[in-house]
Amino acid sequence: IGGHPTPQAGPMKPAGVQRIIAVGSGKGGVGKSTVASNLAVALARAGKRVGLLDADIYGPSQPRMMGVNKRPSSPDGKTIIPLHGHGVTLMSIGFMLPEEKAVVWRGPMLMGALQQMLTQVEWGELDVLIVDLPPGTGDVAMTLCQKSEVTGAIVVSTPQDVALLDARKALNMFDLLKTPVLGLIENMGVYHCPNCGHEAHIFGEGGVKAEAARLGLPFLGSLPIDLDTRLAGDAGTPIATGDSSMATAYAALARRLID
Ligand code: ADP
Repeated sequence: IGGHPTPQAGPMKPAGVQRIIAVGSGKGGVGKSTVASNLAVALARAGKRVGLLDADIYGPSQPRMMGVNKRPSSPDGKTIIPLHGHGVTLMSIGFMLPEEKAVVWRGPMLMGALQQMLTQVEWGELDVLIVDLPPGTGDVAMTLCQKSEVTGAIVVSTPQDVALLDARKALNMFDLLKTPVLGLIENMGVYHCPNCGHEAHIFGEGGVKAEAARLGLPFLGSLPIDLDTRLAGDAGTPIATGDSSMATAYAALARRLID
């Protein structure tokens, strides 16, 4: 690690990885990273060999969410030994980019960092590698889809119009890059008041499902606004590690992806 990586020509798919599933979104803050980490954990709990590559240059949050915030080692200066947490093999672009300068990195540098994470990290044999993309339609998402034979992409959105509007752009990008879209996930679809049981649709209702239907894409499910999900993410123990209804919901989402 270290220095400024520059991209090389050629494919970036790690040899031992069966499938790469990219998790994208149009907007930031819709819960893409939360969904990515919990899906990774749920897939691992279902017996799959799972890797999680955090490629969100604008805010790499997986070290925090997965509770493994230390630098990976590179004993020979070439290969990188990934980290492990909650049964998932983990690598984050946050380990490779200087924290304050990450967002001003130019495309070629980002592509080089992405390539290093795919080809120099010792991922080993994996059934699934989940890639937490940056929000939007930038260089990282494009390079990943063009060079690494992504099996499919999932797009996470809240039901809010502004989020959906941007989600459409991300879907359009996957379409242009000929990356199959495995489906849409609605996050923060409803809030159940713990005191009175009232259901509030804080970001609107039904928009993601309707969008999936309009585009003829699978609707994979809706996740509620859930305090424990946020607390668990902040604590580095994803909610999917436990046995709550949210963990059950993530287990069901994971089944839909691997069946
Ligand atoms: P993104 O990756 O789209 O930027 P994050 O996964 O980082 O979004 O989520 C943004 C914030 O919202 C985080 O603090 C996260 O814990 C919280 N969050 C995500 N999904 C939920 C949810 N279903 N309920 C409550 N909080 C959530």
